Amino acid sequence: MESRYTLVEENGVRCTICPHQCVIAEGKRGICYTKENQDGKIIDLSYGRISALAVDPIEKKPLAHFYPGSLALSISSIGCNFTCPWCQNYGLSMSKIDDVHTRYMEPESVVEVALTQECTSIAYTYNEPLINLNYIQDTAEFAYESDVKNVLVTNGYTSIPAFSNVVEYIDAANVDWKGWNPEFYRKHCGADMYKVVDATEYMHDNDVHVEITFLVIPTVNDDPEEIRGCLLYTSPSPRDLSTSRMPSSA
Ligand code: SF4
Ligand code: SF4
Repeated sequence: MESRYTLVEENGVRCTICPHQCVIAEGKRGICYTKENQDGKIIDLSYGRISALAVDPIEKKPLAHFYPGSLALSISSIGCNFTCPWCQNYGLSMSKIDDVHTRYMEPESVVEVALTQECTSIAYTYNEPLINLNYIQDTAEFAYESDVKNVLVTNGYTSIPAFSNVVEYIDAANVDWKGWNPEFYRKHCGADMYKVVDATEYMHDNDVHVEITFLVIPTVNDDPEEIRGCLLYTSPSPRDLSTSRMPSSA
């Protein structure tokens, strides 16, 4: 399917889904390997390509304060826009879409399975879901109309202008903050930490129920000061967004 999130430029076509903003030359793919320039159009290779489907307790996503005790239909595809060496779903996140067995599912079919399995929500998870924004947009809209909730389990690396077309359908998100150090993000994830913080705040400000996961990796991101800084920044009572608690970008 042709991606909705594109901009034609001199050297190729820009994918505007995430902050990488890849400018993709003819015949090439973006960083996540799921968007390809074919004849001057960005084709979304992962649209509808489901790599895993499972019914999970919502607490396994993990969301502790969103419809506790309910079931979520978890679905995933292939690819990621980060490069975390510790990735637990490496086989899905770092594979090329051509190399992994997937099954095509129409957005309506996902919602039908969720209803049949008595799931309160659909969780977009395992690999990074927000690179698959075209598909989430279509599926989440059907789910919304059927009163099925939409849940993201995400690294939060999304472009706000693109995501603004989808946010109204998203009910909850678990955003995985990888650390509280911009250099750490650059080195291990190949990403800009501040974009993750911006997107997380954008979700919160647009009525998405947000919970944060902070995976502590011994000797890598376990500096007590950094963890304390993250906790202070996300403290809900009072919610203090003072920039003095943000690490410097310098
Ligand atoms: S989703 Fe992000 S990483 Fe993938 S092609 Fe688009 S801008 Fe690049
Ligand atoms: S963001 Fe998540 S899915 Fe992507 S590489 Fe990192 S841990 Fe894996």
